[in-house]
Amino acid sequence: MVLAEELADDYDAMVEVEEVEEMAFGDKFNLESIDKESDLIERAPIITIMGHVDHGKTSLLDAIREANVADGEAGGITQKIGAYQIVKNGKKISFIDTPGHEAFTEMRARGAQVTDIAILVVAADDGVMPQTVEAIAHAKSANVPIIIAVNKIDKEGADPARVKNELMEHGLVPVEWGGDVEFIEISAKFRQNLEEILDTILITAEMLELKGNPKKRAKGVVMESRLDPKVGPIADLLIQEGTLKIGDIIVAGEAYGKVRALVNDKGEKTEVASLSQPAEVIGFNTVPEAGDVMYVVQNEQHARRIVSEVEKDRKLNNQNKKKHISLEVLSQHMDDINLKELNLIIRADSKGSVQALNESLNKLSTSEVAVNVIQATSGAISESDIRLAEASNAIILGFNVRPTTKAMRDADKAGVEIRTSSIIYQIVEDIEQALSGMLDPEYKEVYLGRIEIKKVFKVSKIGNIAGCYVEDGKIYADSKIRILRNGVMVYDGELASLKRYQDDAKEVIVGQECGLNIKNFNDIKEGDTVEAYKVDVIQRTLKDVK
Ligand code: GDP
Repeated sequence: MVLAEELADDYDAMVEVEEVEEMAFGDKFNLESIDKESDLIERAPIITIMGHVDHGKTSLLDAIREANVADGEAGGITQKIGAYQIVKNGKKISFIDTPGHEAFTEMRARGAQVTDIAILVVAADDGVMPQTVEAIAHAKSANVPIIIAVNKIDKEGADPARVKNELMEHGLVPVEWGGDVEFIEISAKFRQNLEEILDTILITAEMLELKGNPKKRAKGVVMESRLDPKVGPIADLLIQEGTLKIGDIIVAGEAYGKVRALVNDKGEKTEVASLSQPAEVIGFNTVPEAGDVMYVVQNEQHARRIVSEVEKDRKLNNQNKKKHISLEVLSQHMDDINLKELNLIIRADSKGSVQALNESLNKLSTSEVAVNVIQATSGAISESDIRLAEASNAIILGFNVRPTTKAMRDADKAGVEIRTSSIIYQIVEDIEQALSGMLDPEYKEVYLGRIEIKKVFKVSKIGNIAGCYVEDGKIYADSKIRILRNGVMVYDGELASLKRYQDDAKEVIVGQECGLNIKNFNDIKEGDTVEAYKVDVIQRTLKDVK
């Protein structure tokens, strides 16, 4: 930390120490366990549907759901419980019932990644639109494979080829053109090619080899929650691991309880909910928040202990408002080997300046630290940018643009850093400096002096004290030292004390006599040499590694 402060000082910046590194709930409370390979079984893929407004996301979700209501249930009402599951060719597929990337990214920002595959709906008569581009960035940043549903092909003016061309510009290359992205032309309205979408999902899922352990205690994510005046708090969960059963003790954020009832997406009461299954859970003492991760724990005491810790943390966090990554705190993360990549979101006033900035920033990457531009678009900095920044720990750069008022508020709340400027080189210089702070420093040893041990005295309680003579250079009371015996190093450590006559000395120099003893080392002998040295920390700049 001291090092970071010194570094920040050099850069005329402040290090904010109050940042509490947020640990995932499960890790913090030791609720995660490693699975035995033999316990793992295939699980259903979980799908999120994204795309621009009015391109048909909801229509597609509804069409798939209705087309797959089993005969017995025909006419039956499917429940809206945050997600639903269908069966295709004997295999299950789960769909998250909230379309759009907002909820998706909100969950990620809270540490819950539930989606395995994203379906990007693009209307064939409208083409790639701003939210299409956003959705791509969000899915890519989450490392989730994308399947394209080119929708509304029934409409006049539908031009699927144009959609393909436009998406190519965003790095999505169709399989038939040598890429790896599946494009399916559909009509959600007329239920056209829905089976192809499902087949493609199953093939993609197969490649992902999604597995889970149904035997362990359940873990899930709260998709939605509400307070029902009759039954109390209700949470819609998607189970990610294990099997949730009636009677299980559950905890999610600041809510805990005992599972009293489980209802599936068909509205039926069930006894259990397992891998990739949605379920409505009744039994929480209070309403958990959407995005909270739910765990089953051994007993109620344990659940209560966790909840009280979470409450304490929240109070603390409210006091020291959660600080997201900022350029100033980067030096603090220097030792964190994971953070060798600086995620950036670029917004600029025109396509030209987006490109210019993108190129200049990408050039800054070196073999040790990299700039990773996750989204570069023109226009004002939006709320969606803030969510993406929050989810992917990114900094937002604005060139000649400003955030919307809502975005500014959200950024403040989430602690997302926005840097705006109307001078490109200033932005580039800022980032260059930040990257330099991410480089590992170099340690350089500096020789200080040599001392010969002339005599060794035994002093009770203290141990062996050496009477010495400084033969070369000097030694400080806080120097690092090595003991050399016949040229061989026998110990490497620090002094416990350095004295001149009876008094403590800060330093002794060549030609002077002194007394000393060594911290945690008593085996000194007459004739030993004490070599004094120090280690200089040299912070490198990008220029040093280029
Ligand atoms: P969302 O905002 O992406 O969820 O879009 P919606 O599903 O609400 O659809 C927006 C509008 O497009 C609605 O009026 C739908 O009826 C219409 N729509 C959706 N899919 C199709 C389609 O395949 N063909 C045609 N012609 N209209 C569609």
